[in-house]
Amino acid sequence: MKNKMVYFIIIVSFISVLFAYPIRNLYDSEMPRPTAAHLGLYDAIDYILYIPIEPPYEYLDSAYTKITLTNFAETDSPVVLDLESMECDSVIYTHPVLDIYEVCDFEQTGDTLTIHLPFTSPENDTFYLTVYYNGEPDWGYFVQPNRYSDTVIYSLSWPSNARCWFPCIDHPADKATATIQVFAPSTLMVASNGVRISADTLGDYVFHIWRTYNPICIYNICFTAARYIYWTDTATDSTPIMYFAYPNDSVMAPIDWGRTAEIYDSFEVYYGDYPFEKYGMATTPFGLGGMEHQSMTFLGDGLITGARTYEAVVAHELSHSWFGNSVGLGDWRDFWMNEGFAVFSEFLYTEIFSGEDAAKNYRHSTMNSYFSSGENFPMFDPDVYLSYTCYNRAGMIVYMLRFMMGDSLFFATVRDYTEHFEYKTVTNDSLKAIFEEHYGESLDWFFDQWVFQAGYPRFEYYYRCISTDSLYRAHLHITQNNIYGGPDAYIMPLEIKLETSDYNLWDTIWVNSVDNDYYWDTEDSVSRIRIDPNYLSLRKTVVVSAIDENKLKPDGLYVEISPNPFNSHCRIKILNNSNNLCNLYIRDISGRMLENISFDDAINIHIINWETSKIESGIYIIELDNGISKIYRKAIVLK
Ligand SMILES: [Zn+2]
Repeated sequence: MKNKMVYFIIIVSFISVLFAYPIRNLYDSEMPRPTAAHLGLYDAIDYILYIPIEPPYEYLDSAYTKITLTNFAETDSPVVLDLESMECDSVIYTHPVLDIYEVCDFEQTGDTLTIHLPFTSPENDTFYLTVYYNGEPDWGYFVQPNRYSDTVIYSLSWPSNARCWFPCIDHPADKATATIQVFAPSTLMVASNGVRISADTLGDYVFHIWRTYNPICIYNICFTAARYIYWTDTATDSTPIMYFAYPNDSVMAPIDWGRTAEIYDSFEVYYGDYPFEKYGMATTPFGLGGMEHQSMTFLGDGLITGARTYEAVVAHELSHSWFGNSVGLGDWRDFWMNEGFAVFSEFLYTEIFSGEDAAKNYRHSTMNSYFSSGENFPMFDPDVYLSYTCYNRAGMIVYMLRFMMGDSLFFATVRDYTEHFEYKTVTNDSLKAIFEEHYGESLDWFFDQWVFQAGYPRFEYYYRCISTDSLYRAHLHITQNNIYGGPDAYIMPLEIKLETSDYNLWDTIWVNSVDNDYYWDTEDSVSRIRIDPNYLSLRKTVVVSAIDENKLKPDGLYVEISPNPFNSHCRIKILNNSNNLCNLYIRDISGRMLENISFDDAINIHIINWETSKIESGIYIIELDNGISKIYRKAIVLK
């Protein structure tokens, strides 16, 4: 149990934007464990849960779930539900039209409840199964003290643990509406999804009923019961926002959550209408974590500081209303889409509320955290779900779509996406199709390099500015040395800043090959060129040592070998600063020619990676010849 708690605390912490925990050895791709059994045969269209909680709360006695199911074709196949660690007592079949009420045979093996229907169901039939069950949930449902030692009873089913506290089709692709009924001591307040229908007192207990009229992913069905204070707010579109915080946080929580309606209003402008009946937030005891349960986000009690320290988490979880909840996942392997848009929303929130500079810094640190993590696996079907890859990297991938398309086209596409797939589920292909439709061309290359491949680009660049007759010519050379994986050459736009002593010039270039050269004719000398200074793209950039103009021969030849001596390879950087074509020769000490490379573009810099793993130790002569003069350098191979 102790290990389990560590695991749990880390899970929920990572759901937030805070990534302070080592997670690499704790999670693997098995984590979402969807059950596809009969997913295509029966469709759950509504759930009614009845959860009686009584002290000491760990055990659920006489709970039931009534599921409305429909079938796409005539069938007498059994209904297979997911149910783990709970014991099924009985299952009742009812039919709303035929007025049938029958007790069903069932088998419970492992995590599966197989229910035999008393009748063959015709095509598109709709019927109810009510499953009565008992047990102590081994996950998904928790009884824990909060930071003030008050007991909180709450659920957290992400990603596939709803089955641990009620029977269901525990697959994200099967959305349904839901009613959550909780019978709880009157000392506790209950918060849940959708609208609060009623809270009737029965002796020392209260029967709470909440209902979501919009379809909900199974892992988003939730409740929390605790001693809470409760208040409301209203967004500009009149949607109610409900807040549940611990009484001891009565001063701090309203400060921390005070701008929720404003953030909500801002997101509606960019993402389209908020999709649900209400929004809500409740504190639960999971540290610095957050979980975006549809229309009732749970926020860890550590996030309450009274200083808006974690407002980005509020924005992150709220944004899941559009990305993850309304537009849900049909396949867990596309998990990056949920978190990519949520981390993107942190960028957007920072930009709106704190300005461009703060947003730039936020992107920079988000990117750096990913780089420092050492993670290197694709976002699709990731090795680790709660990872920098699925959060930080994914946020930058979404941001790059924005940079590439421009604000107006990007946000129009996003609004089309949220509207088109409202209440539905999507895969990577759904997202790609919408973006391709608006972008006007295939984005295979974008998704291939960023979603299905690991790694990221490493740009080595240098620049110089030479005077021509009456102008200056700035030259930027970028070599892709993608040592972190991915394609040899990424295709992507990059923002460029050219600095003169008096002003800056801005441009956008596209890199698409290993070596890339760009030229700008300018009126003033360019003293510095910066690549992507606003951190709009996921990349590492390294300035290669600038050419030392003093070492140039008068006719403009330059050779630099690094490292030197070397073992298996070296980099030879050459500059031909004349209008003549030039040749590079590599010979051994006896004069035997090993390499002969011609450069047909004058006034240019090149880098050659010389592979010497099959070459013996010794001294080799590098010669550069532009027809006017020659220079020689010694390269020393040491094995
Ligand atoms: Zn998230």
